Order: sequence, then structure tokens, then C-alpha cells
Amino acid sequence: MRTKDFPISPIEKQLISVISERLEKEGEGREMEIIDFHSLFKLLNQGEKTVVIKFRDIDPRLYGFKAPYLGKQKIPRNLIAIRNQKYVYKGGSKKIETRYLPKPVYIAYQKLNAALYKDVKRKLLIESGYRSPARQLIVFLYYLNFHKFNFQKVVKRVAIPGYSEHGFPKSQAVDFITTDGIPNDENPREFAKTIEYKWLLKNANRFGFYESYPRNNKLGVTFEPWHWQFRK
Ligand SMILES: [Zn+2]
Repeated sequence: MRTKDFPISPIEKQLISVISERLEKEGEGREMEIIDFHSLFKLLNQGEKTVVIKFRDIDPRLYGFKAPYLGKQKIPRNLIAIRNQKYVYKGGSKKIETRYLPKPVYIAYQKLNAALYKDVKRKLLIESGYRSPARQLIVFLYYLNFHKFNFQKVVKRVAIPGYSEHGFPKSQAVDFITTDGIPNDENPREFAKTIEYKWLLKNANRFGFYESYPRNNKLGVTFEPWHWQFRK
């Protein structure tokens, strides 16, 4: 089946670039992972708001994304904040902004990490945990800008709000990152070669974590070895 085109005008592209850059700067030190649409709209002017709403209301299934609609969930109350995570990248130390996980998922992650450390002396950090629907849209626009507005590519990689397992606390997804900064945006699939990934393949299920998007999955989503869903 041929998928539809999604034209983006030069003005919209420019607005998206501006929004992405500004929110990245302004987002530092703020609780962006759990921002709601009301607070997001307060950071935008009318034109920016219009373009954000256009992308919020996309049906990604018209464009080749086949994962199910999970619904726009309320921001849960049992979130645990994960602060001060640091990894080494290109010789320097990089800090991850505050991340959030529902409490049962956080506890399972800690158990998994303890077992990982016991077995191979490595630890995994949470690169991304719970993301509110508004945050999910910011992430989508960021990658649209990053991939030079290649909509067909981004729509298969980054979910529209309501379709993301990062916004689905009942079966919360996490993105892991190693303490040496893998994956990164330049070469994300490097993660599949790590000791940590090989350990996850053998052991993560014991802790309730399952790989959502293995190689050649039927959901139309790109292979994401770092993305695991908690299903318990
Ligand atoms: Zn993910």
C-alpha cells in the first residue's frame, strides 16, 4: 500500500526549527518530561501553537506506522524522579536531565541493574522513561528538525502522542543508555553490539522488560535495541 505524503511548508519548517532550538535551551533545568499541553502552549506564540497542533493531530497510521493507538493517558501520580545520571561521551561527562518512571517500573529497573552489575560489571542508565503527551510531541518535532524534515523517516521512528509506549504508564517503556553513552544520535544501532544489550536479550524478561521493536518487526517501527517495555 502506498502511504500518503505529508507536505510541510517552508514557514512550518522554520517554526519547528525555532521551537526545537528554543525548547532545548529553555528545557534545561525544567521538568520537561512531564510538561502538559497547557504549560507548553504558554511557551509558544500563536503561529508556533498552530503548527504544534497540526502535528499533534496526525494519524500516523496513514503514513506507514502500524503500532496501536494507546490513548492519551493522564500524567500518573506515582512517578519517581531519577536525577543526576551521568555518562561519559567523547571524553567528557554528560548529565541526563531528570527522568521519571512509575514506581513499580523504577523498582524493577533497579533490580535489573543490580543483576547486570553482578554479572558483567556494567550499569544501564535511563535515557528516557515516562514522557507526557506534550513532551512526546516536542521529541517528534526535534527529530523532524534533526532529520531535515524527512517526515516519512521520522514518523516510523518517533511516535505521535497517544502512540508512544513512553506515554503509557501501565506498560511503561524505557530507553536505556550505557555509561559510555551508547546509543547516540549519530549511530544509534551501535547499542545492539554492546555487552549490555546481549545481557538484556538473555535476562531482561526475568525482570519484566521486553523488547518492543526488534529487527524487522511488523509494526513499521525502526529497530530500537535500547527500547524495552515493562509488562508485569
Ligand atoms: Zn523508546
